[in-house]
Amino acid sequence: APVPLIAGNWKMNGLRASLSEAVAIAEGAKEAKGRVAICPPSLLIHQMCEMLAGSRVLVGGQDAHWDDFGAFTGDVSAQMLKDAGAQMVILGHSERRTGYRETDEIVSRKVQAALRAGLEPIVCVGETLEERNGGRALPVVTDQVRGSLPAELTGKPFSVAYEPVWAIGTGLTPTTAEIEEMHRAIRATLKEKFGAAGEGVAILYGGSVKPSNAEEILHAAEVGGALVGGASLKATDFLAIVNAL
Ligand code: 13P
Repeated sequence: APVPLIAGNWKMNGLRASLSEAVAIAEGAKEAKGRVAICPPSLLIHQMCEMLAGSRVLVGGQDAHWDDFGAFTGDVSAQMLKDAGAQMVILGHSERRTGYRETDEIVSRKVQAALRAGLEPIVCVGETLEERNGGRALPVVTDQVRGSLPAELTGKPFSVAYEPVWAIGTGLTPTTAEIEEMHRAIRATLKEKFGAAGEGVAILYGGSVKPSNAEEILHAAEVGGALVGGASLKATDFLAIVNAL
């Protein structure tokens, strides 16, 4: 089974003062039973990497452009994240897919850029409430997996995060049976696409993960960790989730 990963997505939260939370996370995560990552806003990456050097906590970006450099005002590339010290990058988060119209094709190109830079991608997929209520959650998500993961990923370290859009920041979560059904479908799609290498990919769950539900979610079949939003901002909450592994 893949080594589990608990990744915190700070989204557009955190100032330099928040770096003390990252230090507390690194201190508390020394004995973690898996990998631990924090994905802060880009501007904090360089300093966070310096402060966490020598700790086991990995640092990641939350998005990256599909090109390495160029005339793209306001954008940040995977090469820049790598240069700042990041090891990972979240790509295709639903807040990017909806807010910035990122398609599977765009996400796939971003994944290729991350690989060129030597970053490990965490690729997000997930259905809307309308799609789930319409009985289309499984085909929607497996199509996203097929379209967002380029063949270049074969044999490379990466993970997939299943984040139902309706569970993000809402306090709602799918049932454990629903999570397991989706994670099994994602696993089957990964094997169809990458062969045996698809077995080694951690499939994270994301969406309203908190200390009180972490243990049940993290022990569900085919769940290889969590992508945590709100509950990753405070070291005590995030460490409680890490310790539920
Ligand atoms: P919440 O944990 O705040 O629901 O956010 C989940 C998420 O979008 C992580 O990427």
